[in-house]
Amino acid sequence: MRTRLVVGNWKMNNTVTESVAAVETFVQHVDAKSSVDVVICPPYLAIPRLRDLLRNTHIKVGAQDVFWAESGAFTGKVSAKMLDEFCVSHVIVGHSETRGRFGKLETPENTLGYFAESGATINLKISALLYRAMSPILCVGETASEREAGQTEAVIRTQLEEALTGLDAAELYGTVLAYEPVWAIGTGNTCDSAEAQRVCKFIRGVVGELFDEHVASELRILYGGSVKSSNSRELFSQPDIDGGLVGGASLDPTEFSLIVMSA
Ligand code: PEP
Repeated sequence: MRTRLVVGNWKMNNTVTESVAAVETFVQHVDAKSSVDVVICPPYLAIPRLRDLLRNTHIKVGAQDVFWAESGAFTGKVSAKMLDEFCVSHVIVGHSETRGRFGKLETPENTLGYFAESGATINLKISALLYRAMSPILCVGETASEREAGQTEAVIRTQLEEALTGLDAAELYGTVLAYEPVWAIGTGNTCDSAEAQRVCKFIRGVVGELFDEHVASELRILYGGSVKSSNSRELFSQPDIDGGLVGGASLDPTEFSLIVMSA
C-alpha cells in the first residue's frame, strides 16, 4: 500500500518572513490527522525556520537541489550533510529547471548552459542523498518537441537509466519518482489524467525491468505540471499516480491545502 505524497516546490519564491507566514496559514488549513504525507521544499534559507515551525506536525521540510560532494571548494553549493543537520527529509533532483529544460522560457536562450544538470550529476546527487538516508525525488519528463516527435518513452527511459545506474533495488525504497512533462510545468497546460496515468505506469514498468517488480510496486510516483485543486482529485485518483509535485499552486497556502486534501 503506497501512502499518498504531496510535495510543494516553492522554487525561488518567498523570503524567510514570507515562508513563515505561508506555512502558518497552511498549517491552519490542512487536516493535522491527514494520512497524506506532505513535504514543503522552500528556498534553502527558509529551511531552518520551517523545520522549527513544523517540528510537531506531520509536514516535512525538503530541499530543491543538492550538491554531491560532502564539502570542499564548490562555491555556492549546498551538500546533503548540510541539509541533514536541519532534518531535511526529501530533496528534488533532476527537476527540468535544474536540467536547463524549460516549458516556458523567460530568460535568454544562451543562459541555459548555466543550469545544465546531466544524468551523471543527477546520479551522483542521488547517491549522496541515499548515503545520508534522505529521500531523492527524481523528476523525469519530456519536452513538447520530444513528445511531438514520439520520443516520450525513450527520453524517460534514458533519464531513469542514467539517474538510477549503479543503485541497488533496496536503495530505491525511499526514493520517489515524479513524472513532470516539461511542457506542463508552469505553463497552465496540465497533462490529461489518462495520459499522465499511462506515462506513470510506463515509469513503474521501467523500474520493474531495471530493478524488480516488488520495488516498482512499492515506489511512489508523483505527477507534476500545473497541478491545481481543480484537477488534482482526478489526477491523484489514477492507479499509478501516488500524489503530486506542485510548483506554482503550492505558493498559495489555501490552494495547496485543497490539493493536499484532494489526495
Ligand atoms: C514543478 O516545479 O515541479 C511544477 C510542477 O511546477 P508547476 O506546478 O508550477 O507547473
